Amino acid sequence: MSLTLICSERFSDHQTPPGHPERVERAEVMNAVAAQARARGHQVTAPHPASVEQLARVHAPEYVARIAETGGRAVALDADTYTSAESYGIALLAAGAAVDAVKLVMSPERSEDRSLQRPGRGRPSGRPEVNAALAMVRPPGHHAERARAMGFCLFNNVAVAAAHARSEGAKRVAIVDYDVHHGNGTQHIFESDPTVLYVSLHQFPFYPGTGAADEIGRGEGTGFTVNLPLEAGAVDEDYRLAFSEVVVPVLSEYDPDLLLVSAGVDAHERDPLAGMRLTSGAFAAMTSELRRVAEQRSDGRLVLVTEGGYDLRALAESLEGVVESLAAGSSDTPWPAAAVASDRGRVAVNAAKRALSAYWKLG
Ligand SMILES: [Zn+2]
Repeated sequence: MSLTLICSERFSDHQTPPGHPERVERAEVMNAVAAQARARGHQVTAPHPASVEQLARVHAPEYVARIAETGGRAVALDADTYTSAESYGIALLAAGAAVDAVKLVMSPERSEDRSLQRPGRGRPSGRPEVNAALAMVRPPGHHAERARAMGFCLFNNVAVAAAHARSEGAKRVAIVDYDVHHGNGTQHIFESDPTVLYVSLHQFPFYPGTGAADEIGRGEGTGFTVNLPLEAGAVDEDYRLAFSEVVVPVLSEYDPDLLLVSAGVDAHERDPLAGMRLTSGAFAAMTSELRRVAEQRSDGRLVLVTEGGYDLRALAESLEGVVESLAAGSSDTPWPAAAVASDRGRVAVNAAKRALSAYWKLG
């Protein structure tokens, strides 16, 4: 098991107006989590900025130029998305951290190994060592559309990372997004592309309004968008059910070369913006499920990129749980014992199965 964290004190230099939930203190929490991981012997590295070429794989060049022009100024891009003087550079660093994470887990030697080993689906024998990277960044990315900033996001960090992996030879990339909000930007960027699978669990109906179960992709990408819309109030057990009946089976069947995670922690019960009731332990358990998928299906390549998470204590606890779960190697982190019953997971799972049973073996 190899785990690298990518973080920077410069993520504090993207400033938002007073009272904004996506605030500088979030970067301080991320840096504290990184310092703690370093003290325990994990590798922590500083990110490089993404290049304009890397961004232009998923963003319109005119849009990148428009964000670049905000340099040195505070600009309101929409009702809740702002820049400060240094935001363009910091947004480049956030997208670059996601690209760096992909580079870390996709070294050339590993790609060659894979092409020799793997003529068909699944692994014939043996499990690869998991090679995981966690990029802790702000601003977040998954609401950013090809040519539009929204929902605190400037560039779509995870989409830039997925496109980079494709350019480096990954044939199939899977993105799992458990941020409490639907990742409209990520879905739209890849909705016609069967080489990037997008799987989202999110509160619904809720901001940004997209993410219904019947949004399953377009054209050649039909079936490669998987939405699990969960009613407000969902608990750990609802997410456990969604993982066991939809997320893990779809990922296993898709058999990605690389597993990316939009690891927002705003479905936490303490989060001030959303209405889900996940405990900190659920984030460790989801990470453990995804680590196991990576071990069995993506040659151990696992990249997590932070998104939202607006209660500082919940952010710290949840990210610490993610790190501990990855550091635990191949021993699984169990789901917290179900304290509350809810049918929200069953409703979402059934809706996803109805929408997608023609495309995936979902029992
Ligand atoms: Zn969110």
